Amino acid sequence: MSFRAVSKEALVGSITLGVVFAAGYYLGKRKPFRMSISKSHGGGKEDPLLQYVLNNSMREHPSLKNLRMRTMEDSWNIMMVACEQSQFMANMAKLIKTKKALEIGVYTGYNTLSIALTLPDDGVIVACDISEEYTSIGKKFWKEAGVEKKIDLRIQPAVKTLDELLDAGQAETFDFVFIDADKTSYDTYYEKSLQLLRKGGIIAIDNVLWGGKVLSPSPDDADTVAIDKLNKKLHKDIRVSLSMLTVGDGLTLAIKI
Ligand code: SAM
Ligand code: CA
Repeated sequence: MSFRAVSKEALVGSITLGVVFAAGYYLGKRKPFRMSISKSHGGGKEDPLLQYVLNNSMREHPSLKNLRMRTMEDSWNIMMVACEQSQFMANMAKLIKTKKALEIGVYTGYNTLSIALTLPDDGVIVACDISEEYTSIGKKFWKEAGVEKKIDLRIQPAVKTLDELLDAGQAETFDFVFIDADKTSYDTYYEKSLQLLRKGGIIAIDNVLWGGKVLSPSPDDADTVAIDKLNKKLHKDIRVSLSMLTVGDGLTLAIKI
């Protein structure tokens, strides 16, 4: 199985927690902090170790593969989640027996499909995006995989959807949330998601390293400032247990206490 035809962002990262930590440990022996396992730009060709990780861990559903290949034809394919990161999150969602999930920022819906495939028959993923254009690319593959009825796509600003869910009395009912939309709203998404999440549920937050820019945020770079501020807030947030992983472009897992 070759994963070379994935986007730059999709080529980033690692797969299961075990592999992530094993690779991190191995790389950490040589350098105190290395982005390469999570920040390869050419995939296996330029990073044989990442290719090894992909070759020996990816178990991509055929419809996920088809959607990934279709997404590669889109000019914004760099926005797609790394496939190995998506598989890792689907495993996390499965581990906590997720029935009700939320995705904030869908794009072509690769991760939405990945999570939907792990849900039981009566499970649902509320998928939030503002773009009909991007999300319509995914619909064909959601249907092909036979999980379209589990995907509740809402095309409007995500904050509106989150408020509607809260107003509908759905606080404390979600098991798993993936935050991956506009970065300046991350803190708002986090706070509303935390209200919607049940105890023991997981919020996964993407791009928390933002290509390394968080090391020296420029005051006029609103995205980096917002991500860095949230990272620092989460470090002290006693409402959650926390892990920040060097998977992909950085992935934080916050588990509601
Ligand atoms: N999670 C996706 C995946 O698995 O491939 C990638 C998401 S992409 C990085 C970010 C998405 O957020 C885009 O599709 C964009 O349209 C959407 N977005 C941007 N601003 C938004 C907003 N205010 N509300 C909802 N979605 C938004
Ligand atoms: Ca992302």
